Amino acid sequence: MKTEEQRATVADSTTGSTGKAQVPENRGGIVSAESVPTEPARAKTRPLPATVLTPPPPAPSPRLDDYRDIIGQSHVDALRFLARDLKGKSIKMVNSTAVGGGVAEMLNRLVPLLSELEVPTHWDVITGGNDFFEVTKAFHNALHGSAYELTKAAQEIFLMYNEQNRERLQFEEEMVVIHDPQPVGLIRSRDKTPASWVWRCHIDLSNPDARVWEFLRPFVEQYDAAIFSSQSFARQLPIPQYLFYPCIDPLSEKNKDLPDSVVQRVCDEFGIDRSRPIVTQVSRFDRLKDPVGVVHAYKLAKKYVDCQLVLAGGGATDDPEGAVVLQEVKEAAGNDPDIIILDLPPWCAFEINAIQRASTIVVQKSLKEGFGLTVTEALWKGKPTIAGAVGGIPNQIIHKLTGVLVHSVEGCAFQIRYLLTHPDFARRIGASGREHVKENFLMTTNVKRWLLLFRILEEAKARGKAR
Ligand code: UDP
Repeated sequence: MKTEEQRATVADSTTGSTGKAQVPENRGGIVSAESVPTEPARAKTRPLPATVLTPPPPAPSPRLDDYRDIIGQSHVDALRFLARDLKGKSIKMVNSTAVGGGVAEMLNRLVPLLSELEVPTHWDVITGGNDFFEVTKAFHNALHGSAYELTKAAQEIFLMYNEQNRERLQFEEEMVVIHDPQPVGLIRSRDKTPASWVWRCHIDLSNPDARVWEFLRPFVEQYDAAIFSSQSFARQLPIPQYLFYPCIDPLSEKNKDLPDSVVQRVCDEFGIDRSRPIVTQVSRFDRLKDPVGVVHAYKLAKKYVDCQLVLAGGGATDDPEGAVVLQEVKEAAGNDPDIIILDLPPWCAFEINAIQRASTIVVQKSLKEGFGLTVTEALWKGKPTIAGAVGGIPNQIIHKLTGVLVHSVEGCAFQIRYLLTHPDFARRIGASGREHVKENFLMTTNVKRWLLLFRILEEAKARGKAR
């Protein structure tokens, strides 16, 4: 990973000491005359087409049989077989938000699929005031390793809202799954229920703030099992731990197949030129996603190969930090007309799908990452993918086999150039990446893991009763 000093050197090498972008050396690619600045310039976000200004109606939920064409009849049959002994056993899932974020997106599909398998699954969302969500956001950052002063007041707010939710929610199901730290305190209801309780942790706990983790750990230890998204996120715990990778739904708006004419229409709407290579990063405008690093890598690569850079993100309008990062990205981009910055509303799943499909290469140059669903999405679309070797990304990208891993701006620039000039290799890793996702990171594989875990828990409960 680069130090700030090294990053500054890279920035200097691409923008020059006057702050003006240097004229890229044109070695065979098209470089627009407009890219020669006369004064320091800042890119603008592209105006959004009218079609994306309002949310689309919700897409209908797919049925299990709809997955047959993707995973094959035998895998669908296997899910039905695994569900047979669980028929009628009810499940409760609890998390902290019904919309926005990967957990809600996943539950939106998982809950109807389990229910269709006759494992009735209910989903409850905890409630809380701003003070609660401020505390849980701070916990989230601290568990990811940020410095944090855990105060008595924060602990009290956390416990108070957990108690409120505990009184409000009923736990009548046979199995209860609590997602992430926000509702972890609901475990205090366990003695009142015969249910098995599972804590599903979606966040990276490899380097947590010690005080926050010590505060949460006594709750976690009361569960029957814990689930983590990566081997490296697991903690020392006296309960069984399971590895469940996050997953994507191949039939969602974000990932379903699209006819080429639709991809073309979306590109036309956003002003993306499909006749030239397209390098894309889809990410919130967040420093940990390193969008500025991507701009620098693109600029280095562009000295040797022609390409456009699409940075499609969101959340900059309602997140003050996102707005600052977006500004930094625009400054780094200067007035290069081949850098297309899109600040998308949160409902643009379909447009993101089309942009990913139109891309020649997808980049996810994160400096820290939980799992990196954008990587999964790109691999699923068979895209040659370059990503930072951080967090859960190496579970998805096996270097030079299912994608390429990078550790620096220069490494990313090198791989952009390499993949654009070695299309056979790029195609090969793209195809292997798709297979890797099919095997490990699809919603149907996730359903299989849940069914197996529920069966294990039921068996353990039965053994406990028999003793
Ligand atoms: N995403 C989106 N709009 C955006 C940026 C990202 O819908 O403007 C989606 C992206 O396609 C992916 C998810 O948000 O499905 C981001 O998940 P990831 O694990 O990559 O990163 P996170 O944002 O959770 O850190």
